[in-house]
Amino acid sequence: MASQGAILPPHVLIFPMPVQGHVTSMLKLAELLCLSGLDITFMVSDFSYNRLLKHTTVVSRFKQYPGFHFQSITDGLPDDHPRVGEQVVDILTSTKNITGPLFKQMMSEKNLFGSGTRRPITCIIADGVLTFAGDFAEEKGIPLIYFRTISSCSFWASFCIPELIEAGEIFVQGIGMDQLVKSIPGMEGFLRIRDLPSFCRVNDINEPKLHMMKSLTRQTTRAQAAIFNTFEDLEGSIISHIRKHIPKVFTIGPNHSHLKSRLAEKKVDNSVLSGSFWAEDRSCLDWLNAQPSNSVIYVSFGSITVVTREQLLEFWHGLVNSGQRFLWVMRPDSIVGEGVKNQTPIELEEGTKARGYMVGWAPQEEVLNHEAVGGFLTHSGWNSTLESIVVGVPMICWPYFGDQTINSRFVSEGWKIGLDIKDTCDRDIIEKAVKELMEERKDEFLKRSQNVANLARKAVNEGGSSYHNLDALIDYIKTMIV
Ligand code: UDP
Repeated sequence: MASQGAILPPHVLIFPMPVQGHVTSMLKLAELLCLSGLDITFMVSDFSYNRLLKHTTVVSRFKQYPGFHFQSITDGLPDDHPRVGEQVVDILTSTKNITGPLFKQMMSEKNLFGSGTRRPITCIIADGVLTFAGDFAEEKGIPLIYFRTISSCSFWASFCIPELIEAGEIFVQGIGMDQLVKSIPGMEGFLRIRDLPSFCRVNDINEPKLHMMKSLTRQTTRAQAAIFNTFEDLEGSIISHIRKHIPKVFTIGPNHSHLKSRLAEKKVDNSVLSGSFWAEDRSCLDWLNAQPSNSVIYVSFGSITVVTREQLLEFWHGLVNSGQRFLWVMRPDSIVGEGVKNQTPIELEEGTKARGYMVGWAPQEEVLNHEAVGGFLTHSGWNSTLESIVVGVPMICWPYFGDQTINSRFVSEGWKIGLDIKDTCDRDIIEKAVKELMEERKDEFLKRSQNVANLARKAVNEGGSSYHNLDALIDYIKTMIV
C-alpha cells in the first residue's frame, strides 16, 4: 500500500455552492484538473445532481475520467423551495446549518473518500462562500484553496467594505448614489456608489447582509490560495491589489474557454460541457440559422433573476419598438407577482413571432457563439459576462443583484464593451439602448469587443497567462502530497 500510495495522484475535493452558475464553472474546473490526471471528488447537492442527470450528459461525459467521482449531499432546503430571486440566499444559511454538519460526518465515515485506489482527500477547493468547508479543512489540517465564481472587481470591492464604511461611502437609503467611490484602490474615477455590489445598498449601516458579506469576503485570506475565473489582461490591475492580501492567486479563466482549448490540444471531444439545470431548447439554433449575421439581440437573465409582469412588459415593448430581431430566454420560474407566478403572458408570446423567438432555456454558449447574434441583453452574471466576452458579443447590462451591479459598470466604463442600464426598467430606455448597441454604435462596440475576445483567447492558449497559471496550480496541488 505504501508503494502504491506513492504513485497515486493527488485527490482534490471540489465543493461548489449548489446553484447553476457556481456548479457550471466549478464543473469546468473539475474537468480541467481531470485532464491532468488528478483524482476528483465533486460534491454536489441532491437537487443539482438530479437536475444534471435529467438535463445533461455530464454524468456520462465524466465517465471517461476514472479518477472522477460525484458525491451528492442535501442542500438543506425542501425540494419545492424556489431557489430563485432573493430567496436564493437561503441556500447560504441551509448549507451552513444542515449541509455543513452532514459533510463533516460523511468525511469521517468515508475516511476522507480514501480507498485502496485513491488517496484520502489531499486538498479542498471550496467555493469561497461555503465557509463551513473552510472550517473543516482548517480543523483537519487539509490544504484549502478557495474558488471565487464572481469577478475579481466584485471580490475586491467587497473586500474593501471595511474601508468603505470607514470612509462613509456606504450610503444608506439610496442617498448620493451617483457620487464617485474613493476608497477602493484601482477603481477611483469611474465607480459610483450605485455600482457597488448590491448588498452595499442598505437602509441602515448595521444591516446584517452587509456585515455578512464583509466577513465572508475577508475570511478568504485564511486559505492557502485562491482561484479566480478571470484573466490577467481583463482584471490584472485589480488582481494586483488582491495579491497584497492573498499572495497565491491563480487566474485561470475564462474556465469554459480554457476547457475547450485544453480539450482541443489533447485532440478529444471539445464540445460544450453543458451543466444546465433546465432542458435546453435547441430549436432556437434553427431559428438563428435563418437570421442574418450580427442581427439578433440575445436576451437572458441567467438562472436566478426574477422579473415582475410589469418589468417583463417594459422589456417586451422596448425590444419590439427597437425594430431588432431578438431571442429571449424566459425561464418558467422567472416571473413573479400576484397571480402571475410562472406564467408567460399569452399576448407576449403571440406578439413576439414577427421578429422574435422565445425559449424556456437556451444552450447559451452555443447561442452566443452563433454568427447571427450581435448583442446580449444580460443581467451581468459573471459566467454570462465571460461567455459574451470570449466571443466578442457586446452587452446591454440590466443587473439584478450581487456582483452584477459592479460587473455592469466594468462592462460599460471599464472595458467599454457595452451599455449599463441599471436601476431603470423603462421601454423607451430599453428601445434606445438596443438601437444604440445594434445599430448606431454597432461597429465601435463590435471592434472593442473583438479586441477583448482576442485577449481572452490568448490567455487560455499555450503561452497565455491563464494557461500558465493552471499549470502552476496543478504543480502546487501536487506539492501538497509530499
Ligand atoms: N444559461 C444557459 N441557458 C440559459 C440561461 C443561462 O445555459 O438559457 C447558463 C449561462 O450560460 C451561464 C449560467 O447559466 O453559464 C448562468 O450563470 P451566470 O453567472 O451568468 O448567472 P446566474 O444564473 O448565476 O445569475
